Amino acid sequence: MIRLGIIGATGSIGVQAMGILNSNRGRFQLKFATAHTRRAELESLTVNHGSHGVPELFVTSEVGSQPVLDAIHLENIDILLVASEGVSGLEYTYAAAKAGVPVALANKESLVLGGHILMPIFAEMGGGSQMFGGVSGGGVSGDAFSTMFGSANTQPQAVRPSVIPVDSEHSAIFQSLMGQDMSSVAKIVLTASGGPFRKFTPSMMAGITREMALFHPNWSMGQKITVDSSTMMNKGLELIEARYLFDMPSDKIDVVVHGESIVHSYVVFKDGATMAQMGIPSMLAPIAFALGYPHRLETGLPTFDMLKYPTLSFEAPDTVRFPALGLAQEALKVDKPCVYIGLNAANDTAVAGLLNDTIGYNDIARVVAHILDSEFLYKTDTSTMDGVQSLVDEVQHKSTQYMKKLR
Ligand code: NAD
Ligand code: MG
Repeated sequence: MIRLGIIGATGSIGVQAMGILNSNRGRFQLKFATAHTRRAELESLTVNHGSHGVPELFVTSEVGSQPVLDAIHLENIDILLVASEGVSGLEYTYAAAKAGVPVALANKESLVLGGHILMPIFAEMGGGSQMFGGVSGGGVSGDAFSTMFGSANTQPQAVRPSVIPVDSEHSAIFQSLMGQDMSSVAKIVLTASGGPFRKFTPSMMAGITREMALFHPNWSMGQKITVDSSTMMNKGLELIEARYLFDMPSDKIDVVVHGESIVHSYVVFKDGATMAQMGIPSMLAPIAFALGYPHRLETGLPTFDMLKYPTLSFEAPDTVRFPALGLAQEALKVDKPCVYIGLNAANDTAVAGLLNDTIGYNDIARVVAHILDSEFLYKTDTSTMDGVQSLVDEVQHKSTQYMKKLR
């Protein structure tokens, strides 16, 4: 029985996770679940959740985050699914890391903001986290990797990694790396759907509205990540997420646009061999993999049939039409926590600005670029969580001020 906590149970990821509990009755005990608002929805979701016992429920806009942070420490859970939106995920991921609780991480923003603090803690927790050591640092983590996946490299150990990605691309990379020696990785390549504007001309890009940005062709997701997917900032954040999760240097992480979203990402090895993880576009598979590791759970997805996808297309991303991705790639080259924090917090504020009609669609990248060009960003000590939080606050404040000028 896996004892589980879920942060953001009413969201797109949270609801699908509840579905997995239902499809795998008897395997999980949901100890607690949170939503930010929508108490009734949280209650109805958890009434028939297919797990043992009655979970504790927290509505964080009413009670704040402290009772949840306490539960992470006290509830004796085996895994915490962090699936809240945007920068809100960080404090929960950090609390889990400090409490030695393994995290199934959907909230990529946690790592983009705090990867430099979180990953060393996860690594100390041991288990699979050791696999993430070493490629960019010149160390060889093959031994560490096999510590996790079994010395014969055939069977994964039953040790749950201290952090396991839910994001489909990172789950794909994780799965493609199983049983491999990290020192033989030539590069990891994240695939991107390209979003709804993949085929837009530059003049069409100029006319994008909030409503257009909230429609995604392949995935049904929360509003923030839907907008991020349309600007391709989502892929930018994922580059940084991958940099931390797999300890990859920036020149070994690439993006390829793949409109069908069948290849979820791939790893190229130095002998030329390439391991890709594929499937129909559904978050159920990566969520189930993260929650059930090392076992594969029931998801209810149809058996994958390659014949349904006789042609798959791949193209290079266009950072002229998608400047947000270009900004993230630049940030990756600089590879400093303050730059990642600036990028992420500015984007968070700008997307909220689009959603409440304060700025236009093309202003999002302008806000991010403005923050990355600001000197204050480079002057804050980001080595502690307090430092990270105060930089997030400052970036949000400065972004909001700048957004007023854009109106
Ligand atoms: P969503 O907007 O559908 O749901 C967000 C959840 O977080 C809700 O339960 C909401 O109540 C809660 N929440 C919102 N604001 C909060 C706050 N301030 N404090 C605490 N909880 C808060 O989002 P989603 O699409 O499920 O995405 C959740 C996370 O997973 C994001 O970080 C996203 O990038 C990541 N992710 C999502 C998908 C996807 O397919 N939806 C795929 C990969 C990664
Ligand atoms: Mg993703």
